[in-house]
Amino acid sequence: LVSLEKVNKHFGALHVLRDIDLDVTRGEVVVVIGPSGGGKSTLCRVINRLETIDSGSITFDGHSLAVEGRALARLRSEVGMVFQQFNLFAHKTILENVTLGPTKVRKIARAQAEQRGMELLERVGIASQAAKYPAQLSGGQQQRVAIARALAMDPKMILFDEPTSALDPEMVQEVLDVMISLARDGMTMLVVTHEMGFARRAANRVVFMSDGQIIEQAAPDEFFTNPSTDRARDFLSKIL
Ligand code: ATP
Ligand code: MG
Repeated sequence: LVSLEKVNKHFGALHVLRDIDLDVTRGEVVVVIGPSGGGKSTLCRVINRLETIDSGSITFDGHSLAVEGRALARLRSEVGMVFQQFNLFAHKTILENVTLGPTKVRKIARAQAEQRGMELLERVGIASQAAKYPAQLSGGQQQRVAIARALAMDPKMILFDEPTSALDPEMVQEVLDVMISLARDGMTMLVVTHEMGFARRAANRVVFMSDGQIIEQAAPDEFFTNPSTDRARDFLSKIL
């Protein structure tokens, strides 16, 4: 579904993505882990074109990401993104947060968008909060709204950048449970997370990134029990 070939990205003198080759196939769940500053967030941001790349190529569903204007807007709407900070619209209700994209970008009729929005809020276990504002919800609830909002655009893939890192510990699992259910339903997902329980349960593949490079990638069982590089072993010994 998404394919990166020899992707390079610099921020000034800093080389943050180095010859990244990565394919994510339809229905696959890829977990990306690695030390801080290794380029994980940048990887997410180049996949939905929040950042451009310096060299190499990225295709999504067969289309190059090197486009502008309407073609770019279309590609972006097909890739959902869930951030560490939930980024909800503070002055919109929970339901409005979920219907805004479909009505404004997809031009779907309000009534229809609201019906679908309620179904999605139901799905993430939060329908009873639909009329509230983000600040009235817990962090875990807000993040589930952010997931419902991403789903409302019917994305072909969702990128998650440390979706549970800003949450109080007791709220982490409720968000991971929603993500596990999405994975089971066949959503294509790229997930930056340090939640190894999630990686073991839901990932098809773990990608270990450090210093802008993919150091190794393997099925979770293999990666966690028998990492093949010293750098991965060293990283795992620090977080497990
Ligand atoms: P973390 O685990 O801390 O979230 P990360 O693996 O997500 O780290 P990135 O956020 O992708 O790492 O950052 C990679 C490097 O690029 C870091 O050194 C960071 O400071 C730098 N960087 C990221 N965004 C920018 C930017 N917009 N301008 C300049 N430098 C940036
Ligand atoms: Mg990051």
